[in-house]
Order: sequence, then structure tokens, then C-alpha cells
Amino acid sequence: MQLKFKAMVLSCIDPRFQPLVFNFLKKKKLIGKYSAFTIAGSSVGVTHKKFKRWHQTFFDNLAVSISLHNIEKLIIINHRDCGAAKIVSINKEFDEQNETKIHLNSFFKLQKIINRKFPKLKTDYYLLSLNKKIKKFNISLNAG
Ligand SMILES: [Zn+2]
Repeated sequence: MQLKFKAMVLSCIDPRFQPLVFNFLKKKKLIGKYSAFTIAGSSVGVTHKKFKRWHQTFFDNLAVSISLHNIEKLIIINHRDCGAAKIVSINKEFDEQNETKIHLNSFFKLQKIINRKFPKLKTDYYLLSLNKKIKKFNISLNAG
């Protein structure tokens, strides 16, 4: 029998957000149905040049999960006040606006790579806050 699961979840290592991520996925009825890749910065970690050595490992794991678990979606969960976003911030002041830009840039960068490497894979992008607010982003890229 071939295994069939729903998604891979890409999220950050930050201890404060583990229960939030879990509860979010529980609400979505995804417990037991997703593979997990947890790395500092989530999509920032797998796309920013400062973390270049991490990128291939993520995409290799994603490829394995697609073939092994038959997932059809990658769920990306980034979060505010992220240490990895702070590391890559070129602005001295790390404010909410700067941070949003860093997360959004990584979303677009990741989607570009997904379009090229895994064109059939669906994606959902989220940004969590410690106050449990969850913002969903629609990242669509036109061809070309
Ligand atoms: Zn983080």
C-alpha cells in the first residue's frame, strides 16, 4: 500500500512557537498527516544567502517527502520576532516593517524555486505572531 499524506510543514526552531504551530496544524486537522522540516528562520533559512549551506538539505528532504509520502502541499509557517530574520536584517533597527519585508522576500524566493523544481506542489504561506495572530499570504508568481 502506498502511503498518502497531506503536506510537509516548514517552520522555525524557535521554542516559543512550537505549541502555536502544533495547535494551528491541529485546528487544520493535519496531525499525523504531515512531514516536518524545522530549521532556523523557516523559509528565511532555506532561501537567504547567509544560510546557503542549509538550502540543499531542505530541498532534498522536500523531494524525499514528495516521493515517499505523496504530499501535495508545502505549508510554510514563519513567525514574528524571528532570530534568523534578525540575523539577515541589514537595517540596524529591526522593526515590524523590516521584518515583514524579510519574510515576504523569502516567500517569493521560495515560491520561485518551487515553481522551477516542483511545479505541481501547492503552497500555503503563514506568518505567526506570539499573540497567536496568524496572517496568510498569497504568493503567486507569474511565469517569466
Ligand atoms: Zn524563528
